[in-house]
Amino acid sequence: MVIDKTAVIGFPVDHSLSPAIHNYWIKKLGLDIKPYEKINVNPNTFEEQINSLKQDGFGGLNVTVPLKEIAFNISDETSGVSKKLRSANTLTLGSDKINGDNTDAVGFINSLDKKTIEENIANKKTLVLGAGGSARSVVYALNQLGGHVRLFNRTTEKAEILLNDLSINSSPIGTEELDDYANSSSFIVNTTSLGQKAGEHNNILSFENIKTETFIYDLIYNPKRSSFLEKAVAKGLRVQNGLRMLIEQAACSFQIWHEIKVDASDELISLLESM
Ligand code: NAP
Repeated sequence: MVIDKTAVIGFPVDHSLSPAIHNYWIKKLGLDIKPYEKINVNPNTFEEQINSLKQDGFGGLNVTVPLKEIAFNISDETSGVSKKLRSANTLTLGSDKINGDNTDAVGFINSLDKKTIEENIANKKTLVLGAGGSARSVVYALNQLGGHVRLFNRTTEKAEILLNDLSINSSPIGTEELDDYANSSSFIVNTTSLGQKAGEHNNILSFENIKTETFIYDLIYNPKRSSFLEKAVAKGLRVQNGLRMLIEQAACSFQIWHEIKVDASDELISLLESM
């Protein structure tokens, strides 16, 4: 089975790299289907617009901010992970029902190499910065991988809600405790949007006494090396940006719709880095 018409929806969606990723695979595999599109969908008219896209023949939609929660709510059937996160980033529009799935958490897991999971996450102290939508997927994923997760967020109540929603036995970290916990962590991931805008610096951590074996991950992929990763690199730490996660979550959606396994080839990574 392949789905003829697919797209990413968001508000706004103009800067999304998803069309470049999906169209790369569609072209590479020579699939006889329509090019993947990007479509702005207003949250206030979400359901009408989805029905209209269905009438136009769309069968698969990726969903980006701020629509993932509404997408979950209008789905007739949802996957286990989607239910847990109360969010859907992949909709499959069938003739009689909409299926909602969420591939962000598995995308994050698939972006990590085995060594990092074994040596830096499983049964290790891990620290997540931020408590927004992406933090939910990352906390869920780290917990699945056996990491002991603690969470820091500028707005502590949001961190508390996130941990409660995911039934994670942990507590938010306060500013006074943050550097100490970071210094004993094996894996630290930034899920805040801080550092995405030009000239914006992420100074949440001091990086003064982070262990040399600690792995530093930033979900931001543009810039390729955020100020957060720059500081880690200056300390000689291993780092990773969010591009691989973006590709891996797309690969999972691609597989759900077309039942074809695709991967993050060097060619695709170079293409995206050049955009
Ligand atoms: P979100 O739901 O809007 O959450 C934003 C988070 O950033 C919140 O925790 C917020 O804290 C924090 N934050 C924002 N400005 C801050 C500041 N000045 N100081 C401290 N904290 C600040 O966003 P999201 O959807 O989680 O996305 C977050 C980032 O991840 C974005 O850059 C996005 O592009 C990236 N992302 C990447 C991937 C990927 O595949 N690589 C996937 C999803 C997202 P408060 O709660 O206190 O406001």
